[in-house]
Amino acid sequence: MRHFLLFCALSVYLFADAHIFLYHRFNDDRYPSTNTQNETLRKQFQFLKDNNYTVVPLQAIVDKLNQNETLPDKWVALTIDDGYRSFLSAVDMFKEFGYPFTMFVYSQAAEKNYPDFLNWEELKKLESAGGTLSFHSYAHSRQTRLSKDELRDDFKKGLELYEKRLGSKSAFYSYPYGEFNDEVQSVAKEFGFSAILNQNIGAVGDKSSPYDLNRFALTGDTALKPLLKYKVLDAQWLEPKTYPANGNITKVEAKLNSSAKKAQLYITDLGWRDVEVKDGLVSYEMNEKLKKSRVRVILQVGDKISTKILVKD
Ligand SMILES: [Zn+2]
Repeated sequence: MRHFLLFCALSVYLFADAHIFLYHRFNDDRYPSTNTQNETLRKQFQFLKDNNYTVVPLQAIVDKLNQNETLPDKWVALTIDDGYRSFLSAVDMFKEFGYPFTMFVYSQAAEKNYPDFLNWEELKKLESAGGTLSFHSYAHSRQTRLSKDELRDDFKKGLELYEKRLGSKSAFYSYPYGEFNDEVQSVAKEFGFSAILNQNIGAVGDKSSPYDLNRFALTGDTALKPLLKYKVLDAQWLEPKTYPANGNITKVEAKLNSSAKKAQLYITDLGWRDVEVKDGLVSYEMNEKLKKSRVRVILQVGDKISTKILVKD
């Protein structure tokens, strides 16, 4: 019994979920909604260090999931999307803390030397600074608006360039704008990535699919502490499956692996509300107009959270 209690006490710590963070621009006041200043970055990194978080390469998390092993406590992975030139003003901080990172590359921008973006040569150099490079589409389009053929062409064109210029294959993929649906996900899976990353609020747990890894997009002066408390809510989303054609959301239905009687439901621009859970099922009827073309539907029970993204085609 004593051993059992000790095991229970330890398991609170041992079975914490991993968290993946996403940055875009650094020290670039022109775009406050995607920018992180170095003072903030230092605060965030110091917080991770002071609180004994281990910043691991993304591959380490993917390996644990593939090997069906328990994720160690307090693992964090850092990712950066787009390959903005402004990263050069922050890369020394990553080196100073010894934090590995994955940079997701927008191939067209690197190929065409867009002024705000790193070119292939500069991207390649990031590998010696603890960076792993990966693919973030050719044209950075809104992928749910492309046909399957257009989408496949974007992958083919972008990956061919990526492999030719960088001399390696991309292990991972992240969706431009974090926007996807089942079709986009299934096409992305055809290209042999070992993980695919979204931009949904949530953690990564032992049962997470490597093809649907949650990431918190960080902007401004975001504190990491409240985000690191989130754990995975094991949820199977039943409705809505896609963005409603008439823009009206009429029902949210999901099966939760939880004995909770209540959950909190959030919908972008419609806010939070309490919903009932009956035998693990949320079945909530409503009739409200969605306001944005990209909507996150979130269910939360205590610290556990699951997000479904709906994107208007
Ligand atoms: Zn992007």
